[in-house]
Amino acid sequence: MSIKYKLIGSFFKEQTKNECHCVLFKTNTYYKNLSEDHKYTFRIRTLIFLWTTNFNSEPEFSLNNSMKIIISSAFVQITFGLKINTLNTFNNIFITHKSYSYKNNKAVFDGDVNLYTKKVNMSWPAIKKGFEISDDAINLSIHEFGHCLIFENAEKSYFSKIFNQSDLEIWKIHATENFYKIKSKKNKVLRNYAGTNLIELFSVALEAFFEQSEYFEYNEPQLYLSMANLLKQDPRNKLNPIFK
Ligand SMILES: [Zn+2]
Repeated sequence: MSIKYKLIGSFFKEQTKNECHCVLFKTNTYYKNLSEDHKYTFRIRTLIFLWTTNFNSEPEFSLNNSMKIIISSAFVQITFGLKINTLNTFNNIFITHKSYSYKNNKAVFDGDVNLYTKKVNMSWPAIKKGFEISDDAINLSIHEFGHCLIFENAEKSYFSKIFNQSDLEIWKIHATENFYKIKSKKNKVLRNYAGTNLIELFSVALEAFFEQSEYFEYNEPQLYLSMANLLKQDPRNKLNPIFK
């Protein structure tokens, strides 16, 4: 177990860690399958994210701690192989009780990362469903946090990047190949929305990477392995997904 997380973990109350474990064990399949050591690190990282992020909701919706744990777990899952524990720019999360739309725009959203307000907006029913059905390659919070990582990585200086630059370049090569496959309806793994642009492709691919790992690797091994290298983990190894 990482000494760093053991030390940080000692600052959290046992009751807080237990509550976190119970929620994660019930709702997050990735967490449930981890080794005991990784489970410990995962819940400490979930609590770190939870305590460093501002969660807000519509007044008519009461956002409780269990919900915050579930949302935070999506971020920890994506970044479990990486060093990043928190978001710096997009650390304001706003939860709605249903799908929403913006003024003067008819489009209905379940989630978006707003580049002007720097807020991550998500609807609770879509977040919940994303975890309840863990093998359909649809998980809203994984999708939206994927956007946050790409935007924050772009803002950071060369030495503080979230992703290794050469891993990202290799990912882009395979992502571009898949982008054209989607356009010509030859991609079996990623849903068509990935054909919007490479930013959407990254988030859609993340959802499939975690929820349909075997199928993804079998059909698009190069893209799958470039994602694994980028994230320093392979979710097919359920007990210990992290690269050494
Ligand atoms: Zn998106």
